[in-house]
Amino acid sequence: MTEQRGVVGFIGMGTMGREMARNLIEAGHRVRAHDIVSAALAEAVANGAEAAASVPAAAEGADIVITMLPDTPEVEEVVLGAGGLIEHPPAGRLVVDMSTISPQAVRRMHAKLAERGVGFVDAPVSGGPVGAKAGTLSIMAGGEAADFDRARPYFEVMGSTITYLGASGAGQTVKLCNQIAAALNMQGVCEAIALGRAAGVDLDKLRKVMLGGAAGSWMLDKLGPAIIAGDASAGFRIDLMFKDLRLAQELAQGLSVPLPGSALVTAQYLDARAHGEGANGNQALFRVYDRMTNQRQG
Ligand code: NAD
Repeated sequence: MTEQRGVVGFIGMGTMGREMARNLIEAGHRVRAHDIVSAALAEAVANGAEAAASVPAAAEGADIVITMLPDTPEVEEVVLGAGGLIEHPPAGRLVVDMSTISPQAVRRMHAKLAERGVGFVDAPVSGGPVGAKAGTLSIMAGGEAADFDRARPYFEVMGSTITYLGASGAGQTVKLCNQIAAALNMQGVCEAIALGRAAGVDLDKLRKVMLGGAAGSWMLDKLGPAIIAGDASAGFRIDLMFKDLRLAQELAQGLSVPLPGSALVTAQYLDARAHGEGANGNQALFRVYDRMTNQRQG
């Protein structure tokens, strides 16, 4: 049996959180899991976590609390809300949020927790459910260097590329830059496949050729097969990418940076949502191209 290493309160047992928690358990940590959806919590318990009925129950006696929640309001509620971590910090006085949320909100939470002597690290991830399961996420962190150092052993269990980027909010800022490139790349892959399909090209061969050249990418590699098969299942949901593009626009507007490419792809994500694709995977952007070309993949 693996040696017990630390007590982790883990809040948010969704697509990503349950896999990340499972890796922590397999590495010998005790995980106290909390989620507002009982089915998500039950799955975590089946994976070896202890069920925590509330945020304070997850945090009590823990060395660290990790949150992996959908968006800024959920993290703010868990951290600053009534019965939240600001009132019930873990014994180790360290909170790490690994969701993708607003960098401005991160800095506000960081300041409020600091007043109580609690460290707050923003550490969003890239790599999707596959990376979460394999423990190979790219983790990008901001906050005090000493707090990052304390969180690092936990990051090493969940990820393989771990980067400290500086002051609070820096992790989220880099994540939003990452998402701009990821969404525009998704669009490029869908657009190339739509043209190839209309021209009668063998799409598997098209993908293989592109992977071997300058157009090769993570999106084409990991999600290209699903596009070609017409499989829209999630994965990283359309709704979540739309949220990330919104966060990137909010950050950019505050800095007077125009994001014309993001604006165009955001309109396509809105179109996908309006046609009921919000809970489908990111690659469901290809349905927008299906409609524009009056062809259907899969
Ligand atoms: P998810 O919706 O599958 O999981 C979120 C979980 O949080 C759900 O189980 C939900 O019930 C729970 N939750 C919501 N509000 C809560 C609250 N107040 N208290 C406790 N639990 C609560 O989302 P996900 O795909 O796991 O993504 C989580 C975060 O990670 C998001 O910010 C997302 O943008 C980011 N992310 C996701 C992926 C991916 O591929 N899915 C990749 C990188 C980053």
